[in-house]
Amino acid sequence: MRKINADWHRANPMPKNPSPEQRIDWHLRHAVNCECRGIPAGILRLMQARGIPAPEGYDFSRK
Ligand SMILES: [Zn+2]
Repeated sequence: MRKINADWHRANPMPKNPSPEQRIDWHLRHAVNCECRGIPAGILRLMQARGIPAPEGYDFSRK
């Protein structure tokens, strides 16, 4: 079972109506602070389109 870092989530809410950059930033920080869920494929595509390297354990070619 994946562990949720509730303290981190309380301190780092996703902004309302986030821009793609805000979503990318949130998920990158989330990935290193919490294990409750992975980075969605849509976010990985946004990162790839911007030339941001895939985080540890992620692969842009994975569907
Ligand atoms: Zn989480």
